[in-house]
Amino acid sequence: MNNPFSAFEQAEDDGFGARLLIDLGALADNWRTMRHLSSPARCSAVVKADGYGLGMEPVVTTLHDAGCMDFFVATAHEGVVAREHAPEARIFVMNCLLPGIEPFCRSADLIPVLASMEHVAIWTASCIANGDHPCALQVDTGMNRLGVTVEEAAALAGDGTHPEGFSPVLVMSHLVCGDEPDHPLNRTQVEQFTQVAKLFSGIEASLSNSAGILLGEDFHFELTRPGIALYGGRASTESGNVTIPVVTALAHIVTIRTAAAGETVSYGAAAKLHRDSRLAVCAIGYADGYMRAMSGAGTILRGRNTDGAKGFVLGHSVPVIGRVTMDLTVFDITDVPGNLLKPGDSIELFGPNVPLDDVAAAADTIGYELLTSLGSRYRRHYVRSATGQSR
Ligand SMILES: *Cc1c(COP(=O)(O)O)cnc(C)c1O
Repeated sequence: MNNPFSAFEQAEDDGFGARLLIDLGALADNWRTMRHLSSPARCSAVVKADGYGLGMEPVVTTLHDAGCMDFFVATAHEGVVAREHAPEARIFVMNCLLPGIEPFCRSADLIPVLASMEHVAIWTASCIANGDHPCALQVDTGMNRLGVTVEEAAALAGDGTHPEGFSPVLVMSHLVCGDEPDHPLNRTQVEQFTQVAKLFSGIEASLSNSAGILLGEDFHFELTRPGIALYGGRASTESGNVTIPVVTALAHIVTIRTAAAGETVSYGAAAKLHRDSRLAVCAIGYADGYMRAMSGAGTILRGRNTDGAKGFVLGHSVPVIGRVTMDLTVFDITDVPGNLLKPGDSIELFGPNVPLDDVAAAADTIGYELLTSLGSRYRRHYVRSATGQSR
């Protein structure tokens, strides 16, 4: 089998137990895919939470080089970091507008997304005192999280003459159930947001995250905001994955042992072996975001009898057996023939052979949480596969 990671696995031991191979070529390709699906609307990139855990600098640099000119982050601090790597882009800060943060936004040239009437008051006061600076307005169309109401938005839009100090360049809202294409709330939200966009005619409008882009042109408006799809996660529960894997997580085998039928594995003696087994003990655990809820079949956690996550090695799917612990996880390699594996070899936790979303589902969660939980013990290797350059 052709192993794309051989160079990576042969890297000298640098003391890290686990590795993330992050393919920036795939990231750029995924952005081009989402841009194509968004067209003729423009396509931004959501890079909050350290670029969904993959690293703000490499993610922003790669997407900026690919032509992305609009970025969304969560905090003003993230915005400052993004700004260093995307000097010409617009950077929107989605949930930052705490009192006192206005000078920060001005000096780093960030665009705050105002999400309540208090935010509007704080920001317009600052603009009246210090001069106009662009902002964005978020309107709530069903999430009940961030955003002014549709009525408040209408009042702010006035008859086209906005209140003093209020210079929006973007009006946006966020989908509640975009990943469920048949959910009636999608239609309700797009209708409400169409009204809002009309009130702010001449100002760009943005509604769709990754999932929304797949719902079709009605949902695109002028600017789309994909996040998870850029990083290779599945955007919709209905359709297949439209983008390609970006991250491969690998854990080293620390030791291989044999155990007899009837013995148990890991804490709580929760997994009882039903056959004589070969076990690969890997240096990966919940401290690395390989969650305890991914523990193997038969392990009862939170009252739930899980199937557990599966790794992949030498063409074989290898299940986690017993409880995932802080630093170590045991995989059942009985079905991998002979003595092909040895300590120091790696097991793929997720990547091209093990979908990110399947591993997340094994822990009752989503790819987003898995990516943003990866933690600092991985050695991160950035590579650029030779993928298609244009679309
Ligand atoms: C995180 C976020 C996005 C990106 O969502 P994905 O589902 O990752 O594509 C878009 N818009 C807002 C407001 C967000 O908070």
